[in-house]
Amino acid sequence: MKNGIHPEYHNAKVSCACGNEFEVGSTVKEINVEICSKCHPFFTGKQKLVDSAGRVERFKRKYAKYNEASATGKATS
Ligand SMILES: [Zn+2]
Repeated sequence: MKNGIHPEYHNAKVSCACGNEFEVGSTVKEINVEICSKCHPFFTGKQKLVDSAGRVERFKRKYAKYNEASATGKATS
């Protein structure tokens, strides 16, 4: 490695939204993540809905409105 051109490298503490914490090598000291290998469905093998932005709720609300409209014969987009 050349001297003087590389950023400082240390162990960063990663905090996940599920409460899990682990360390990785990084140039920053702290990392916050929403999902990690402890809680991601791919690794847990469990079916779990990852809905961090409330997208499902928004979709349900939108769809409920559509159902009402089509029931009265006034379907609007
Ligand atoms: Zn996690």
